[in-house]
Parts: sequence; structure tokens; C-alpha cells
Amino acid sequence: KSDPRGPLLRLRGIQSGSDIVIVFLRHRDLILSPVDPTSTLPSRLSRTMVRGIALLAALPAMTAAFVAPAVSTASSKSAAPAFVPMPESDLPSVCASTTGLSAMLSQTELPEKLYIPKEKEMPKVLGGLQIGLRKLVVITGASSGLGAACAETLTKTGRYFVILAVRDVEKMKKVAQDRGFPKGSYLPMKLELGNLQSVRDFVANLKAFKSARPLNNLICNAAVYKPTDPEPAWTDDGFEMSMGVNHLGHFLLVNLLLDDMKKAKNARVCIVGSITGNTNTVGGGLVYPQADLGKLQGLEQGGRNPIAMADGKPFFGAKAYKDAKVCNMMTVSELHRRYHETTGIVFSSMYPGCIAETALFREKRQWFRKLFPLFMKYVTGGYVDEKEAGDRLAQVIDDPQCNKSNVYWSWNGGAQTVGRWSADGKPRGAGGSGGEIFENTQSDAVRDLPTAIKMWEVSAKAVGLSEKEICKDVDPAAL
Ligand code: NDP
Repeated sequence: KSDPRGPLLRLRGIQSGSDIVIVFLRHRDLILSPVDPTSTLPSRLSRTMVRGIALLAALPAMTAAFVAPAVSTASSKSAAPAFVPMPESDLPSVCASTTGLSAMLSQTELPEKLYIPKEKEMPKVLGGLQIGLRKLVVITGASSGLGAACAETLTKTGRYFVILAVRDVEKMKKVAQDRGFPKGSYLPMKLELGNLQSVRDFVANLKAFKSARPLNNLICNAAVYKPTDPEPAWTDDGFEMSMGVNHLGHFLLVNLLLDDMKKAKNARVCIVGSITGNTNTVGGGLVYPQADLGKLQGLEQGGRNPIAMADGKPFFGAKAYKDAKVCNMMTVSELHRRYHETTGIVFSSMYPGCIAETALFREKRQWFRKLFPLFMKYVTGGYVDEKEAGDRLAQVIDDPQCNKSNVYWSWNGGAQTVGRWSADGKPRGAGGSGGEIFENTQSDAVRDLPTAIKMWEVSAKAVGLSEKEICKDVDPAAL
């Protein structure tokens, strides 16, 4: 109920007297549409799964053998019953026996993939859209929080056409409408960062859409945070979810777009960082656990299931997020070292402040989600609201003073200390609301060159960056 995306699952037409089995799905971040003949099923919800859930709901009525309606009837507007009898011969053998619930559960398949390449989005066409003199910018994770606020700011300037690179295009359309993005200023496009083929498909679609016009700006903002998961979740390619989505997906995306962006004047790439990945801050240094890539033993061995952590150690969700943020910030400094001089692209990172109410904290308990914003606002002074944070991210792309590469931008003191109340009644020094933009200092861990070089090499290998895909303009001084 706490999830703004609505109830996870609603079954219709369950026979009275049936046992109802409620399945709590936690690790796969699933969104299921109601099993309703008039609704369309999202691609992630496989037919097998619908059938599996229906079978669970109908356990006592095994002989009657009801199953969910065929997916092919999904578009039908007729009020067909939610469950229709299926010939006994079609049932999995387990149903014909007196097998217990545990065996039934083992027959229930979860969707295997976050992204099914067969169902990839058709390339968008410019159609009636006029981009004109506006700059073209891609923002990942624009369907929520910081990304949505930044997209709103940029579209409303009238100077940007924003490609909203999101995993859920329908959700994005609604967010854009609710926030009043100006018509003709944006286009949602499918990007599932938990699947490397999806990243490649997105880039192909983007290129088809924009044709010869180069991409001016890229904002890598999307992220997941899984601090309470006892076990790792995996991307489709078998990487631990935080590392796979937050770092590796973006790493591939940026690399695939360099050749295109170097053709644009004043091109900028910003990868959103965090104090939590920066150990010289309160959030990153004093709040357990600290980010630590070790010698990157895990990623060096390929970083795929069952290897859950960059350093090869056992899974620790809160640390996995921080490790990924360190990799994000190191990616910026390596991009700068390798490509700034030769391509002119400006690479930066930023800390937006603590936007304590975003969906990033969706896994935290309810009491935490209530108290955390108050704590950040009144105790540490690190709080910033979504609108101000969105403006900050937009500033890094838009402000002439941010046309400097390899900078980690922050505001209001950068969160190296907890806030101190100043004469104007506002906290200073915590990276929260107000204050001026400044060039923050990265921690020694983020600036560690040998580790950054190794991080680049193992990441390139992990995402399978091919010779053809690598931008060849590497600064000879960086080799
Ligand atoms: P939100 O959870 O609100 O937004 C995250 C976005 O990432 C959502 O749009 C989400 O999509 C998208 N996303 C998640 N997984 C995937 C995926 N597999 N493929 C594609 N997109 C995906 O979090 P915030 O707005 O708070 O976070 C934005 C950025 O700001 C992150 O990089 C975070 O690390 C950083 N940050 C946030 C801070 C904070 O206090 N909130 C502080 C410091 C940094 P969907 O809408 O479908 O869920």
C-alpha cells in the first residue's frame, strides 16, 4: 500500500470456498496489473506466472481446474470471467496428483527477465515533433524523484527536448502529464538498466529517432537502493541489482554514446553521485557501512551471480549501493581522463542533497520514511526538497559556470559536516537546502587512480564493451 504505484496484485473471480494464497513478492520489484480481461498485461508478467497464481488460488477446487484467462483475451472489452476451465489434459502433471502446496509453489514461475528483447520498443519517429534549436538531453530514471523534477525544470525552460529514458514508459507518460511537462518537449523511451541488451536497444532507438542530430547532454540518474534485502537480487545479466543498474548499465550507456556526443558543441555528461559513496562526508564516512571496492576481486571475476559484491565478499545491500556510487564517481573521473581533452565533452558528478522523501527509500520501514525527512531537515540540515534538487541537477547541465570537467558539484557546504545554524536561520554546511553551488572534494577512495583504472577495465569487460563500441578518441596521455 505504501507503494505509489498502487496495489501489487488483485485477483478477480476467485471461487467462494477457495483458499487464497497471498504471495509477497519483494526482491524482484514487480509491478503486476490486475488480472483483468480488459487490462493489458505488462510484458514482464509472463503467461506462466498468471497461470501459476491462478492455480494457487484454486487449490481446493483442483478437479474443477480453473486457470486465468488466456493473455490473448487481454484486449477484449467483454466482461469475460477471470478464470475459465481448462481441459484436464493441459494441466501440469503436479495438479493431477495430490501434491501439497510446497510442490505447487515450486511450479510457480516468477518472471525470468526484467526485459524481453523480443518485445523491444519500436523505434520512435520524429513525426510531428519539432526539436528545432533546442538541445537534446537524455535523463535516465525520469519517472520519479530527482529525475522527474530535473526533467520538469529542463522542459519548462523551453530550451531542451528531453528524452525520458525509463523502465516503465506508461508510468512516465502519466508522470509527465501530472507534472505538466510542456507538450512537444519530451519523449519517453524504454530503458531497462538491469538488462544490457535493453541499453543497446535504447541507444539504437535513440539514434534512429534523432537521426544525424547529436546528443547534447546525458544525465545518468536512475538508481535502486536495497539496504534491507537479506539476499541479492540479480539483473538479467546476473549482476547484483545495485551494481548492475546504478553502475554497469550506466557505464555501458555512456560509452555507447560518446562517439555521438563528441559531435555536439558543449556536450555534457553528468552521473549523479552521492555523499554515501564519498567517505570524507558524514553520510559516507560515519554511517555504517562504508563504501569499499577492495581490490575489485568480485568484479574482476566477472561480477555475476553468485558473486554479489565488487570486492567479492558476501552480499550487503546498503554497501552494494555505496560501492556502486563510488563506481559512478570514478567513472566520471576516468571519462574525464580518457576523453575530455580529445572530445571536449564535459564530465561531472553531483550530490543533490538529501531528498529524503523519494521512492529511493521505498524499502525502508514506514516509521523511517516519516522520521528521516524530519531528521535530515532539523538535525543534520542535509534535507533538500525534490524541486530544489531537480533544479540543482538541471543547473549542472545548463549553467555556463558548470562547463568545467571532472567536478563533483555540491551546494550549501557539501555535507562534509552536519549542519550549523547560521544567522539567517538556515543550516549551513550539510549540503541541504539553499546555499551556493561549489566544487566539492572527492574522498581519497574515489580519487584512487589505480583502483579507478581497474574499475574501468573490469566494468568494460563485465558489460562486454566490444572493440567496435569503444570510442577510439582516448587521450594518449591517459594510457
Ligand atoms: P527514485 O527511486 O525516486 O528514482 C529512481 C529512478 O530510477 C526511478 O525513475 C526508477 O524507475 C529508476 N530505475 C530504477 N531501476 C531502474 C532500472 N532497472 N532501469 C531503469 N530505471 C530504473 O530515487 P531518487 O530520485 O531519490 O534518486 C535519483 C538519483 O539520486 C539516484 O542516482 C540516487 O542515488 C541519487 N541520490 C539520491 C539521494 C536522495 O536523498 N534521494 C541522495 C543522493 C543521491 P521507476 O520510476 O520505474 O521506479
